Amino acid sequence: MPNTNTGYALETQTRPFYSPRQFANGSNTSVVVHELAHQWYGDLVSVRGWKDIWVNEGFARYAQWLWSEHEGEGTTRELADHVYASHPADDPFWTVRPGDPGPENQFDIAVYDRGALALQALRDEIGDDAFFAILKGWPKRYAYGNASVADFQRYAERVSGKPLATLFDTWLFQPVKPDVFTGGKVSSAARTSGAGGTPVEPRSWKKIAATNGVHAH
Ligand SMILES: [Zn+2]
Repeated sequence: MPNTNTGYALETQTRPFYSPRQFANGSNTSVVVHELAHQWYGDLVSVRGWKDIWVNEGFARYAQWLWSEHEGEGTTRELADHVYASHPADDPFWTVRPGDPGPENQFDIAVYDRGALALQALRDEIGDDAFFAILKGWPKRYAYGNASVADFQRYAERVSGKPLATLFDTWLFQPVKPDVFTGGKVSSAARTSGAGGTPVEPRSWKKIAATNGVHAH
């Protein structure tokens, strides 16, 4: 319930709280999805250290993308393309390393948005069957415990049977924009508009982005 006048939302275990500001424009399912996802990714499995914040926020943000697709407001692919295209190579966004962002960037937007991009890149690499097996298996494997980014990489490699060191390094640890979106699937005629071929902004984007402005953790 929007009952706590803090200005932010937080995934307090079993009962997240929200700020009235997040509901100023009416219902906001996206922020609720984010905090509920944390019940598994963040609460049931907690970070080993604060540098591992991606295992919380990357997944909670990706849950918002999945919800958007479920609601017909933009697929995870469209959201990934939008985030990738929205930040040119010289944008400081790409200097934040979601896999170890440092105290000053602990809750930087890149931990969320680039963090979700990393999960889309993983999904592209290993396919939906392995990807969703990992999403479901991970909270069971580390239930009531702590886990790191490295733990997640090892788990994903074991379930998928693929070496993933380069992919994780590229998307989580290099302070530069990756040259090529995995699989070269950045744009298609159906999803682009304008002469520049910029991907269309998914309908859910403003709602998802709005959860940042009021600090949904
Ligand atoms: Zn969060």
